[in-house]
Amino acid sequence: MIIKGDIFEVQSGKSRPAELSIKDGDIYTTYLDGDFNEQLCCPQTDIKIDPPLGNIRRKITLPDGRVFETDDREAVDKIQPSSFWRHVFKTERNWRLIAPLAVITPILAFSLFRLTIPVFITVGMAMTPDEALYSIDKNIMRLMDRFATEDTRLSTTHQAKIRAQFDGLLANIEQVDFDASDRDFKYNLQFRSAPGIGPNAFALPGGTVVVTDELVEQFPQDHIILAILAHEIGHVENQHSLRQIYRVVGTATTFNMIAGDAGPLIEGVMEEGAGILALSYSRAHENESDNFSYDLLKASNQPVHGLIDFFENFDVPAQEIETDEADNWTSTHPLSQNRVKNIKDRMAEDGIERP
Ligand SMILES: [Zn+2]
Repeated sequence: MIIKGDIFEVQSGKSRPAELSIKDGDIYTTYLDGDFNEQLCCPQTDIKIDPPLGNIRRKITLPDGRVFETDDREAVDKIQPSSFWRHVFKTERNWRLIAPLAVITPILAFSLFRLTIPVFITVGMAMTPDEALYSIDKNIMRLMDRFATEDTRLSTTHQAKIRAQFDGLLANIEQVDFDASDRDFKYNLQFRSAPGIGPNAFALPGGTVVVTDELVEQFPQDHIILAILAHEIGHVENQHSLRQIYRVVGTATTFNMIAGDAGPLIEGVMEEGAGILALSYSRAHENESDNFSYDLLKASNQPVHGLIDFFENFDVPAQEIETDEADNWTSTHPLSQNRVKNIKDRMAEDGIERP
C-alpha cells in the first residue's frame, strides 16, 4: 500500500512531498521532490498514528521524529483501525470469545460513559479559558445575525430601561449563595428582533444574554423580564451551556473510542460553537436556574413571582410536549407546572405573598 502526503523534517520543520509505502510490515519513505529513492524507514509497529480528528489531515510520526501528513484518511485507517473494538471484531473469528464480548461491550460502554463523561466535563471546563467562551459567544451571535435575527425594534429608552434592570441584577450576584466559578464572565445584554424564533431569551457561555423583541413585546411587565433575565444569568453563572458542550463532545469522544469515527460530530460542535444552538438544558439545569433567579431577585429587592406570571400567562396548548430545544421559553414546559410550584413553595417558605 502506498500513501501520498508530505514529510515534515525534524530539524527544519520543512515539508516535502513524499510517499509512505508499507510492505511486509515495514515502512518505506520516498521523497517525490528528489531522486525517488525508496528508503527503508522502520517496522510498521514503530510508527505512531494520531487519532482521527474530523477532516484534519492524518498524522503519522516516524521513529526518527519525522512527521508524515496525508489527506488519505482511509489509507491510514487501513494501517491501523481507528477503533480498538472494530479491530477486535474484524480480526477475531473465535465465537467463544466474541459471544461474551457482545454481552460485555454494552455494559463496558455504559460504564465508560458513566465514568468518563463527568470527568471529561470537569476537566474540559477547567481547561477552557475565558477567552474561548467569549469567542464562542461572538461566533454564535455572528451566526444568529446572519441567519435568525434582525436589528432590534425596541426604542433606545426601552432598551436602556431593561439594561438598567439587568445591571441591577448583576450588581447583586455576589449575594447569591451558590457554587460560584471564578470565571470572569463578560455580561452583555443584546436585543434582537427574531420573528422566526419568537418570544425568547437565552444565555451564551461567555455571558452574552439575548432577549428578543417578541418577548419584551409580549411581556412588557418589568417583573417578568427581570425574572427571565435572572434565570438566564443563572445559566451563565452555573456554566450550563459549557457543561452541555462538553457533555456532547465527551459523549462523542467516548463513542469514538468504542465504535469508531465520531470526528465529524465533535468538529460540528467545536466549529464556531454552532452546536450550542442545538443543545438543550436539562431539567436539573432549568431548576437550578429558576432557584438562582429566585435568589437573585430576592437579593436585588425585586418581586420574585415573575416566572409564575410568565408561565401562567404564556398561552401554550396543553398537549404540546416540551421539546428538548435550547432554552426554549416559547415551547411549553410541561414541567412548567412543577417550576411554578417550586417558586410558589419557595415564596411560602419565605412568607412572601404574591401581589
Ligand atoms: Zn433556562
